[in-house]
Amino acid sequence: MLRDASSVVVFSGAGVSAESGLATFRSGGNALWNDPEVSTYPTPRGYRAHVPRSWQWYAMRARTAADAAPNPGHIAIAEIERRVPDFLLVTQNVDGLHHRAGSRRVVELHGNLRETRCFDCDARSAWPRLPADPRCARCGGLLRPDVVFFDEDLPADALERARDAAERCDVLVSVGTSNLVWPARELPDLAHSAGASVLIVNVDMTGQMPPGDRVVHLTGTAGDVMPRMVARAWPAPT
Ligand code: NAD
Ligand code: ZN
Repeated sequence: MLRDASSVVVFSGAGVSAESGLATFRSGGNALWNDPEVSTYPTPRGYRAHVPRSWQWYAMRARTAADAAPNPGHIAIAEIERRVPDFLLVTQNVDGLHHRAGSRRVVELHGNLRETRCFDCDARSAWPRLPADPRCARCGGLLRPDVVFFDEDLPADALERARDAAERCDVLVSVGTSNLVWPARELPDLAHSAGASVLIVNVDMTGQMPPGDRVVHLTGTAGDVMPRMVARAWPAPT
């Protein structure tokens, strides 16, 4: 399917970065949700109510992401981009590991942890080296990570690019995402309804589109399955 496709969308979630040592939101013992206070940080109210702890928590996550390395799953996804004429990677991840693995055509649906943004004047800037004071250098407003919080809209242009690509593609590969978070979960459905094949890569298929007509389940980790998928689609010349 992949070899014959001229248009491919890869749709990725936190599971792709699990093998780089970054916690997913819902799965595993180190899931981010276990602490009741921390679980309120990804909302505008929860974040504001717990500054500076919420700010420092995000600064710590940004540093952890910067210190992590892309794994074979990220690298295989970048390789698909090089093989396919019309390609888009739509990610829910905020860790920047896809870019660092070489992916270029990327839509970040949930923003990223590379920069901070001011609540008041919207100015973006690099994380301060010592994140003691979350105040905007320009206007004195409160700084936050440049990610999309719950209760906030996804960036409209990112969502539109993702939807367009899903409706146009021959194959959509969903990898390491629980597909629980709206509106991201509509992408595989959108692609499938428009006639695309859907390949689902996950360690746990709960909540995914059932296998069947043009829907394939590949159970395993992203770091294991993705390189094998690429090697099978485009065997190295002998
Ligand atoms: P999720 O935590 O809800 O789901 C992760 C999915 O990955 C699950 O379906 C799980 O079964 C699967 N998984 C776990 N390990 C895997 C592996 N090694 N290989 C393949 N699959 C694996 O995450 P989500 O669906 O991406 O969405 C939740 C939100 O969490 C997103 O909005 C995202 O912004 C945010 N988030 C991002 C990061 C990151 O950037 N690394 C980390 C945590 C959460
Ligand atoms: Zn400002």
